[in-house]
Amino acid sequence: MDEVIIASACRSAIGAFGGALKDVPPAFAPVYMRLISRRWPPVVALEGSACGGCHLTQPPAVSHTVRRNNSLVICQSCGRILYYA
Ligand SMILES: [Zn+2]
Repeated sequence: MDEVIIASACRSAIGAFGGALKDVPPAFAPVYMRLISRRWPPVVALEGSACGGCHLTQPPAVSHTVRRNNSLVICQSCGRILYYA
C-alpha cells in the first residue's frame, strides 16, 4: 500500500517538474538543468550589483548586461542565472 502511494507521489512530482521546465527558455535549459543539482535556487535576482545567491559583487559590465534582461547572464562566482527585478 505504501509503495503505491510513494509511486503515485513520484509520478506527480515528475509530472510537475516536466510542466515547470516547459516555462524555461530552450537556451537556458541545459544551464538550468546543470545548476539545479548543485545550486538552489538556480535563478536569482541581482541585488544592487551583487548576486542574490552568493552575494559576490558583479563587475560593472555584467551588472549592466543583467539590467537589460535580454540575455543569459551567469554569476562570475557561483554560476547561478542572474536576472534584474
Ligand atoms: Zn553568485
